[in-house]
This record gives sequence, structure tokens and C-alpha cells, in this order.
Amino acid sequence: MPTEVSPYPMLPVEEALRLILRHAAPLPAERVARQAALGRVLATPVIATEDQPPFVASTVDGFAVRAADGLAPRRLRGAIRAGESAAPIGPGESVRIMTGAPLPAGADAVVMVEWAEQRDGVVVPEAPPKPGDNLRPIGSDLRAGDEVIPAGARLGPVEIGLLAALGVREVTVHRQPRVAVITTGDEIVEADATPTGPAIRDSNGPATLAALAEWGFVGEFLGIARDKAEEQEALIQRGIERADVVVTSGGVSVGTHDLIKPIFAKLGELHIGRIAFKPGKPLTFATAGQTLLFGLPGNPVSAYVCLALFVRPALRRLAGEQDVLPALVEAVAGEPLRPAPDRPDYQRAIARWESGRLVVRTTGPQGSSRLRSLVGANALVIVPAGREPLPAGTSVDAILLGPVSGDRLLGAER
Ligand code: AMP
Ligand code: MG
Repeated sequence: MPTEVSPYPMLPVEEALRLILRHAAPLPAERVARQAALGRVLATPVIATEDQPPFVASTVDGFAVRAADGLAPRRLRGAIRAGESAAPIGPGESVRIMTGAPLPAGADAVVMVEWAEQRDGVVVPEAPPKPGDNLRPIGSDLRAGDEVIPAGARLGPVEIGLLAALGVREVTVHRQPRVAVITTGDEIVEADATPTGPAIRDSNGPATLAALAEWGFVGEFLGIARDKAEEQEALIQRGIERADVVVTSGGVSVGTHDLIKPIFAKLGELHIGRIAFKPGKPLTFATAGQTLLFGLPGNPVSAYVCLALFVRPALRRLAGEQDVLPALVEAVAGEPLRPAPDRPDYQRAIARWESGRLVVRTTGPQGSSRLRSLVGANALVIVPAGREPLPAGTSVDAILLGPVSGDRLLGAER
């Protein structure tokens, strides 16, 4: 057996992730309009400037009453809908009131319509009302001065709704990382070109740009660089000048035309040259000033897995998120799993809930050039290094890459 020729130490996955995240600090803040802030991370908290609700509102459809009138019949004086106001009521009076309408002055409770009898312009509660019944007091949802959304929170639809409710038009969020994407390889032609001879179409560029878009980041394709040091260096240098993260694919293994590692080392500082896992051992990570450089392996499966496992958490951290790692869950092997002898193998798998258990099955042959092995995959199952297959039923760790479907909500096995 030849001895290892690579001069780069082989880091365990966890150590590599820690090292990458140590170099990824949240980007500076900027002001962004509310609706454009979806998916962004707050750099400063949102403080309520008004009470919610701003008036005492009924929580039900019913009758606004004075609790002190007890079980006595009340004279019914019209109706108030949400958005309307009504004149005050006096002793022995009541007003029909709809959900969300403001309580009229003089009233201190609402009797639900189901709990009152109405006849001849008179309403009679079936039980004595208590002050405050079926009311939302001023500021009961939130008070002026409350920290409504903390710094570091990612703004989802609910947060956008809350901002709208509070009349907040702009928020201060971390800047999104700009990502420059570069493909390398003498054999690679643009996806829409017709390859001749031993050429192949670029799939890493389009897949990477699509992943960035799906994850809410901004990617820019800088082009395909031949396997010439000057050409690759020039594109990477351009990426460093205009982006926060440069992602290349190809040229990181030990072939004679694998030039990325020395170029990264020349333009910056190389931190990772090898990671002890499959598929993606030669993943390369460096920094050049504030810019993070990732050299993905060329094999499309390795490229995507490395992007999801190592680049995405770094991008999320740059965007200001604290919890950036994908979920690691315990699952059950739904079929025998064949390990790699020398390092953990992150196999592409489909995870689904079956009878209350998360079951994982691989997507079939796992060759790292076989992008098809990722089609439909929503998980990576971590098969520890070994010689013997893990039997079906073995408990395994899996990393969720996408939503998990199941059948329990509808109460039937599919
Ligand atoms: P490399 O890492 O450059 O040695 O490439 C490893 C394998 O991945 C080779 O078979 C390449 O042809 C293939 N490959 C590299 N880059 C791409 C790409 N952008 N799209 C599709 N296949 C690629
Ligand atoms: Mg190559």
C-alpha cells in the first residue's frame, strides 16, 4: 500500500465544523423593509411602541353588560361590530358585541351569546357575569416597551405579521452573505452547451446556485475556470474582492491538475485540507482577510453534501443565526447499511416516520458521481467506519436535510 501523500491532517467532521464556525462571524447590520426581511436575522431587538390590544376588546360574540346587574334582564341597545365604537351603557342596559369590537364605556364584561337568552328586546344571562369575563384588557398581548422579538431571531412569517401589527416598517438585520460560485475543470462545459469528446456539463455550478437560493442566500456565478493556476487564481481573487464567501468546485484532490489548495494558501490562510468522512474527504477551507473560501470536491454528490454540511452552517452564522447546524437525530436503519472501512460514510437516505419511529433507507447505489443518489433524499445517514454491514433495525444517527413526511396525522399507514 502506498503511504498517504497528502500533507494535510484529516480532521473529524465535528472538529472541521467547529473550526469553520470559529471563522464565521455575523456580518454588519443594515436596515431592511419589513416584507423584504423574511428569513433575515435581527441585529437589534424589536421593541413595542404601543400596547396591544390598544383598547379593551371582546374575545367572543355576545352581550356587553355590567356585571353588577347580576342575573337581572338588560334592555338591549343595538350592536357593535369590530371596527365600530358605541355609546356608553348604563345600569340595566346591554349591547350586542362581536369578537374584536371595543367594549363600550360602562360595561365591564361580555356574556357569550350561547350563555344568554334574548327575547323582546331584553337579554338575560344564564349565569351571573364577573367583571373581565371574555375581555382582552389593554396591553394583554404585549405592552409598549416590551422586547417583542430579540436580537438573533430569524424573521419568519409570524414575526413579519407581528411587525406589521406593531406598525414597524423597517428592521435592523444582519447583512446577507454574498457568495461567489466558481466551477473548475478542463473537462467542464456550461450546462447549456453541447459537450463534445470527453467533456461533461457543469452540474455543480447550477446546483450550488439553486441551493443558495433555496436557503435564502445570494449567489453569483463567476464562471468556469480551466485547470490553469492563473485562470483559477484570477477568478478566486475576483470572488474575494466582491463576496463574503467564495465556493469553488473541483480541483481539490491529489491529481496533477488539482490546484485549488495551493491557490487558497497563496491568497489566504488554509485551515482545512482533508476531512475524515465520505463523500468529501478533500473538502478545503481557507480564509483570505474577511472572506471565507470553500473548495468543494468536484464529484457532484460530494460537492452538494459538503455544501449542505459545511458551507450552509457558515452562511447561516454570517447571516447572524446562532443555531446553524442541521438537526442530528436518532433513527432506525430500514435496511442493512454497508459501511466504508476507513471513515464514517454519510449516505444519502430517505427518512420517514413509520409507526412512530424515524426510519432511514438509502437511496440506492452511493457512488459520489451519482447525483441521482441525492434525488428525493431528505437525510444523510451516518454509517460508522467498519467492515460488516449494519443489520436492519440498528439505531443510527441521521442528519435531516429537508422535511420528513409521515402518515400519523391522518392516522393511517401508507
Ligand atoms: P475533481 O475534483 O476536479 O478531480 O473532479 C472529480 C470528478 O467530478 C471528475 O469526474 C469531474 O469530471 C467531476 N466534476 C468536477 N466538476 C464538476 C462539475 N462542475 N459538474 C459535474 N461534474 C464535475
Ligand atoms: Mg477537476
